[in-house]
Amino acid sequence: MNESTKTCTKCGETKHVSDFYAKERGKYGVMSWCKRCHLAMTTPNARAWQQAHRDRAYATHKRYRERTLDNRRAQNRRAYEQRMARIKANPELHARYLEHKRESQRAWRAARRHQAVDA
Ligand SMILES: [Zn+2]
Repeated sequence: MNESTKTCTKCGETKHVSDFYAKERGKYGVMSWCKRCHLAMTTPNARAWQQAHRDRAYATHKRYRERTLDNRRAQNRRAYEQRMARIKANPELHARYLEHKRESQRAWRAARRHQAVDA
């Protein structure tokens, strides 16, 4: 697969990117379904199909979540590191961050003690 083609995640066919609708945040700037599949899913029958194939739709979604788990973890980590770098670069912000962290840890421990007592 080169840069101007993409495999539709719905029908599995590899097509030119012009056969896909544009999407700002997609991997290739396009949606994951080709135009034909996309149109097929927006017809009045589409909802009925989705409802009749719930398990399949769920399984597809689950596979996707599992496949992209590492990406999401890496992305979250990058975002966290950027946030922390920004916070640490600003002494006032860092002090506020540390105070907030202490507060929330105290609240969390208190809530846990409560739970232990109630149980
Ligand atoms: Zn397709």
